[in-house]
Amino acid sequence: MLHQASPKNPLSYIDPQPDSPWQTYLAQVDRVLPYLGDLARWGETLRRPKRALIVDVPIEMDDGTVQHFEGYRVQHNLSRGPGKGGVRYHPQVTLEEVMALSAWMTVKNAAVGLPFGGAKGGIRVEPSRLSRKELERLTRRYTSEIGIIIGPQQDIPAPDVNTNAQIMAWMMDTYSMNIGGTATGVVTGKPVQLGGSLGRVKATGRGVFVTGREAARRINLPLEGARVAVQGFGNVGSTAAELFAQAGAKLVAVQDHTGALQSEQGLDVAALQAHVLQHGGVAGFKGGQAIAADDFWSVACDILIPAALEGQVTEARARQTTARLVLEGANGPTLPGADDILAERGVLVVPDVICNAGGVTVSYFEWVQDFSSFFWSEDEINARLDKILGGAFLHIWDTADRLKVSLRTAAFVVACERVLEARAERGLYP
Ligand code: NAD
Repeated sequence: MLHQASPKNPLSYIDPQPDSPWQTYLAQVDRVLPYLGDLARWGETLRRPKRALIVDVPIEMDDGTVQHFEGYRVQHNLSRGPGKGGVRYHPQVTLEEVMALSAWMTVKNAAVGLPFGGAKGGIRVEPSRLSRKELERLTRRYTSEIGIIIGPQQDIPAPDVNTNAQIMAWMMDTYSMNIGGTATGVVTGKPVQLGGSLGRVKATGRGVFVTGREAARRINLPLEGARVAVQGFGNVGSTAAELFAQAGAKLVAVQDHTGALQSEQGLDVAALQAHVLQHGGVAGFKGGQAIAADDFWSVACDILIPAALEGQVTEARARQTTARLVLEGANGPTLPGADDILAERGVLVVPDVICNAGGVTVSYFEWVQDFSSFFWSEDEINARLDKILGGAFLHIWDTADRLKVSLRTAAFVVACERVLEARAERGLYP
């Protein structure tokens, strides 16, 4: 007899806060359980992170004071392989958010068929307020603290919001120093000199493009001339915008934490990327018309790409958008109520767990290359990425068609079957 979900208990970390990413994830699990047949008896596995580590990260600041930051590493499920998922530095990071992000990694890795479980990490910090040296000390101390549960065969971190190849290099070096060797496979998204993979930096945005292209074809939406609106112009959003522009689409609106812009003729993506690199955001870019942040959601477009943070597509915004296709570059950008409204309005949503899986797919290639110390060309990487993601999309599309459900529920069905089959086959220890 399986243990049932506990009644609402304010002291239990698995009980969700209203409208939190963890609650969104649990609502998604509820929708999938009826499709899992006998495997549903293992369903509680999906609702409980396997392991959640909270760490204190004290560092010496440049002025000699000591500051403490709160860090997390959550391993949601390890049934199909080592944990895999990024590390986020953001002032709003919470344990619950990291739990949800780790659970989505479980689903994502299984939906694509990668041999990984799901994990995620984060530190509650505003990294732009730290000097480079402070950021390095923060990263090294955090890595040491979570060092008891990460490793090339245990759990492999990667970049996420506000973390990048340099931070992965410090993580790899710290872990290596602690074990007395060079463990390149402990993180992915590293610089190429340190065992990183060609094509990793743009892989997530490329995956958004690949799955978006496949979805657009199936709803007869030509990319040539398509109007694209992108929220978040960082690693994922700017690369997706670049690839859609290369395919003939127009970037008609963009919004980030600094401001929002629109242009009916289309924004010059390369010029905007250069501006963001120099100024830290899209605000002040002269090649478009500045608009209020909230007006971004009503700019006429065909494709909407939320590529910033969770919970951005609310019910009101789901009613506002004119897009026919929503590509979830971000993790968890659509609230469950908004998902229903988009479905009622006939808007196709390509869910995060497949749409933004390009990054972890190339992270998988990086991990494999590190083990074999044999590196592939960028063309090889991009071709393999296209094949794996295109194939995963097709399987999920066919599942959605067969079960008459959304792509999200179909992706969860495919993924949760794989996770729970592995769970059932491994059995319970002891
Ligand atoms: P990033 O730090 O490079 O960019 C984040 C972007 O979001 C920036 O443009 C920032 O201005 C914007 N943003 C932040 N707060 C905002 C707000 N309140 N309103 C509007 N815009 C805001 O991060 P990224 O790596 O591009 O990640 C973006 C999303 O994609 C996240 O949800 C992340 O989990 C997801 N993701 C990233 C990867 C990856 O490989 N980097 C992989 C899968 C999913």
